[in-house]
Amino acid sequence: MKIKKKRNALRQSLAVFRYSGRAIGLVWNTSRFLTIILATLTLAAGLLPAAIAYLGKLIVDAVVLASQSDGSSFVNISRPLLYVGLEAIAVALLAGSQRGLSICQSLLRVLLGQKVNVLILEKALTLDLRQFEDSEFYDKLTNARREASVRPLSLVTRTFGLVQSALSLVTYGVLLVNFSIWAVIVLILAAMPAFIAETKFAGQAFRLFSWRAPETRQQHYIENLLAREDFATEVKLYQLGEMLLSRYHNLFNQLYGEDRDLTLRRGLWGYLLSLVSTAAFYMAYAWIVVETVVGRISLGDMTMYLIVFRQGQSTFSNALTSIGGMYEDNLYLSNLYDFLEEEVPQPWGKATIGVNPQDGIRFENVSFTYPGSSRPALRNISLHLKPGEKLAIVGENGSGKTTLIKLLTRLYTPDSGRIFLDGLDLQEWDVDVLRRRIGVIFQNFVRYQFTVGENIGVGDVEHLEDQSRWQNAAQKGMAQPFIEQLPEDFRTQLGRWFKGGQELSGGQWQKIALARAFMRNRADILVLDEPTSAMDAQAEFDIFNHFRSLTKEQMVFLISHRFSTVRMADKIAVIENGEVVEQGTHEELLKTQGRYAKLFLLQAAGYK
Ligand code: ADP
Repeated sequence: MKIKKKRNALRQSLAVFRYSGRAIGLVWNTSRFLTIILATLTLAAGLLPAAIAYLGKLIVDAVVLASQSDGSSFVNISRPLLYVGLEAIAVALLAGSQRGLSICQSLLRVLLGQKVNVLILEKALTLDLRQFEDSEFYDKLTNARREASVRPLSLVTRTFGLVQSALSLVTYGVLLVNFSIWAVIVLILAAMPAFIAETKFAGQAFRLFSWRAPETRQQHYIENLLAREDFATEVKLYQLGEMLLSRYHNLFNQLYGEDRDLTLRRGLWGYLLSLVSTAAFYMAYAWIVVETVVGRISLGDMTMYLIVFRQGQSTFSNALTSIGGMYEDNLYLSNLYDFLEEEVPQPWGKATIGVNPQDGIRFENVSFTYPGSSRPALRNISLHLKPGEKLAIVGENGSGKTTLIKLLTRLYTPDSGRIFLDGLDLQEWDVDVLRRRIGVIFQNFVRYQFTVGENIGVGDVEHLEDQSRWQNAAQKGMAQPFIEQLPEDFRTQLGRWFKGGQELSGGQWQKIALARAFMRNRADILVLDEPTSAMDAQAEFDIFNHFRSLTKEQMVFLISHRFSTVRMADKIAVIENGEVVEQGTHEELLKTQGRYAKLFLLQAAGYK
């Protein structure tokens, strides 16, 4: 039992080294050449100090010998001078290897930063929407991206630094063995408590850091709220500044309290235990002085041991500092690998054409519940849309309209029931082929900080730069007139992030988004989730007036709260609490005098 406990404690202490191997592997994959140089130079920088100490001894001994012998013959002087020369060379080599190490590290930092960032971004591309919406997972992504460029290298540098210190200490030990094996044993034993305490505290700090990650994230979030332009308006107008700042303070105080306790304990114990090793060092030192005085070892030996002790002490404390810093690097790497190793379900469908192209889109008893939610967002949805037909979906906020679109575009998979396109289950389609057939505008479409043309062009990446397509799409989306008013036409930069950027109104952005959907002119399914909600009534009227002729061949899913638009659809589905409660044409639904009729008359009355 006790042994098991001890083993666990040891394992926890060694947590600081957990990711060193992987970090070195990462560096190796980034640049083998630089890694080999780094390792070689580390070796040199670890071994040279002992050699220098040894040369120091040779110099003193040679000088003593020369001064004792009579006359000042050339031979007597040449030997000490030779050693002096050798020591100068060794010192130059040491300086060279240290400089080389820092050059290697600078180069590796850049390469490794890029490599890790690319790894993270490539992984992000393979993720499911489901994973992006999972807060825990999203935290992993954010954590992985933060400090991606410094942490891996820092861990590698510290690991190599530790190896270098260890090498120096071992070679110092070898020099000392000549004096007495007991001295070496006593010094190692005396160093143990400080070493164990340091790894233990580092391990504790590592765990503290891990489990309080949520608070740290909250702090970052508040920082964001206070410092980013998109939040500035609301924070100012609702006067949230002081409240947010005080939350920020509270979080800080909580975190700081824990930090302070650990830092104090660590500092105090670190100091006390290092006193033990210092005492041992100096006792051994005194022993050496005595041995020299009684003539059992040479003056040169004493000089060497003196250097070995001084440097041994500082090397040792450097090693402890390295260990101290390694826990943060480890924490980062554990986050990074958690993220990179997250499993991503692979889409398996391969079909590129359907079995019955005349069938269009068919929902059969589709139900769906969001992960982590207790209530289904959609229940037993059945719909059928033939090629060329237009369906309007009507319903209150939260009734499940957008969810239906997300299932159709295969961003999510139904829990039960099936969705068919051209007679083939959506899951059986090759996802790229499927997505190419769909043009979508979501309510929260992206306002890219690119030029106007690119903002439209992203609708079809293969023709991102095709100007005549931009114009065509802009015309269909009714964006052409205001684009012509912009200072540089289609080349005008949008958004405020970059120099010369122009901000557009909500309605203008929507016209851009509409144009983007029209850019996909090979898509035969068009999905419009409240595409005109921010436009004025005239613009919306104009768009839908020519909409039918623009989309003759396409199936359209339209979500809108404006019945003037909705009534133009071939079919209307009313959704309530995730269920289709009514379905039919405008006239049919009015006749049944149900939910649709009520809502329609309500809105019509509002306009009278
Ligand atoms: P609508 O588009 O009709 O306004 P949605 O389809 O967006 O409604 O939402 C339907 C229901 O699903 C709502 O109750 C909403 O709270 C829930 N919901 C929407 N998105 C998510 C999500 N990503 N995770 C969990 N629940 C969600």
